[in-house]
Amino acid sequence: MGSDNDKHGGTEATGPSHFIRDIIRQDLRAGKNGGRVATRFPPEPNGYLHIGHAKSICLNFGMAEEFGGTCNLRFDDTNPDTEEVEYIEAIEADVAWLGFDWGDRLYHASDYFDQLHEYAIQLIETGKAYVDSLSGEEIKHYRGDFYTPGKESPYRNRTVEENLDLFERMRAGEFDEGEHVLRARIDMQSPNMNMRDPILYRIRKKPHPRTGDAWCIYPMYDYTHCLSDAIEGITHSLCTLEFEDHRPLYDWVLDQLPVPCHPQQIEFARLDLTYTITSKRKLKQLVEEGHVKGWDDPRLPTLQGLRRRGVPPAAIRNFCDRVGVSKADNRVDIALLEHAVREALDKHAPRATGVLRPLRVVITDFPEDQVVQVEAPVHPKDPSFGTRTMPFSRVVYIERDDFMEDPPRKFRRLAPGREVRLRHAFVIKCEEVVKHAGTGEIVELRCTHDPSTLGSNPADGRKVKGVIHWVSAAHALEAEVRLYDRLFTVPDPAGHKKTDFRTFINPDSLEVLTGCKVEPGMADAPPETRYQFERLGYFCTDRHDSRPGHLVFNRIVTLRDTWAKIARQQGKQAR
Ligand code: ATP
Ligand code: MG
Repeated sequence: MGSDNDKHGGTEATGPSHFIRDIIRQDLRAGKNGGRVATRFPPEPNGYLHIGHAKSICLNFGMAEEFGGTCNLRFDDTNPDTEEVEYIEAIEADVAWLGFDWGDRLYHASDYFDQLHEYAIQLIETGKAYVDSLSGEEIKHYRGDFYTPGKESPYRNRTVEENLDLFERMRAGEFDEGEHVLRARIDMQSPNMNMRDPILYRIRKKPHPRTGDAWCIYPMYDYTHCLSDAIEGITHSLCTLEFEDHRPLYDWVLDQLPVPCHPQQIEFARLDLTYTITSKRKLKQLVEEGHVKGWDDPRLPTLQGLRRRGVPPAAIRNFCDRVGVSKADNRVDIALLEHAVREALDKHAPRATGVLRPLRVVITDFPEDQVVQVEAPVHPKDPSFGTRTMPFSRVVYIERDDFMEDPPRKFRRLAPGREVRLRHAFVIKCEEVVKHAGTGEIVELRCTHDPSTLGSNPADGRKVKGVIHWVSAAHALEAEVRLYDRLFTVPDPAGHKKTDFRTFINPDSLEVLTGCKVEPGMADAPPETRYQFERLGYFCTDRHDSRPGHLVFNRIVTLRDTWAKIARQQGKQAR
């Protein structure tokens, strides 16, 4: 399927305008930043990206693209404890898969360690930073809390010379972890806790994946982030709402130093989805405790999981556009994501037939050795996909659910003595039901067919109640099909104070079907090929486990679109 690469593949609907777009527009109009727009996506490589990050990626890269600017990919690798190469590689792959290109602008906060250290010395020299020798516990205690103003450290008034000397010796490795820290000298009485002399540097005797043993002091996030933005010439530093209270510190640091520019931090609401979780820590728990089968489990909202499931990147981009950008935290209905997925797939996925729970049907009046090639469109709404042929022969498989021995009146499929149309082929009539002598289970149907009814759109004028899908037993390929359902049974699994989110894991979120039968045209399907199995939903060959000769499909979504239904009921369009 070409849709992965076809970046703004047709289904793109430009979402409603939002306040960040408006701010950038205004800035450009006012000639701010010399007419430049520069954003960045700054993940900490301590886990895999999820759908929430996709919102930030789409926003940062999207704004840059829209206004002819640039967007950097920057790894926020200030913490030597957590960075893992595995995460870094996955993050790069995910951003590229989503369809965004950082060109040659791949950076690491650790690239700036020298410069950050220089700046720290300047802060000491201007009396804006000091070495504190209180213990971690004491620092916490002195800081006070929301109701209690902070208390100044007895070390706060060290001379510049003493601070420079101590900081130099911290850097040289003379002290143990926790013996000293470098703090900003701001205001211990500030109502904003972040301004109560925040820590800028701490001692960590740990090699760093990129800088090795060069450092044993590491800069803190709040100090690093604003300076990295400034060093890179970022104009609009977009981040999530939890950083709103950090903005005064962001601005304070930049105001004290001779930085090349002063980026504007703008906060927006995180994206949360119903029936899933978007916390890296909780996702890690699910993976490590074996509730799912790895970070790319198709039930997870990780980008690796969504990709493996078969979700096209264009669907994620459209979804992110549609949820928009706001200042208010909100939990988006997962049905909206599913809707975006169906919309993208409906356009691009070729149609095929798969029988998930096969029931053998013998057409008794069809010659033993005859094969009829029936023709069917690859895409019913788009003739440019062309047609396909499917072999029809005396024995076919139909879906077990498409037969009922004792059906209610409204059942529009096959039943004893009733007729049904085999899609694109013949009308058949069920003459006999064969059961297993021991168990009584239905093992075979014996039917007759009407040879005059062949075709996709036969003009035979036959009034047949139902149309069902089928595959020829002699020609069908065997496949494994993995059906996924929502990972949690409640809309907000992490929002129950007294109950752990794991309590709400859906025990039926995965069903593996083996012995499924699919049409022979899919024999050579490479991994990550998407189809619509007619009447059943959208399916994708598994990225890792499927290969020609051993087909494994993941169900991406069913055909039932609850979002479209909700939108219709509310009398408004979903888009
Ligand atoms: P942590 O709690 O480990 O910091 P994080 O989810 O904030 O986790 P980061 O790697 O720091 O992870 O995030 C990278 C960027 O993605 C940040 O700018 C962050 O604001 C943004 N981001 C993270 N989660 C979401 C979300 N749910 N919705 C929108 N943006 C998000
Ligand atoms: Mg973060």
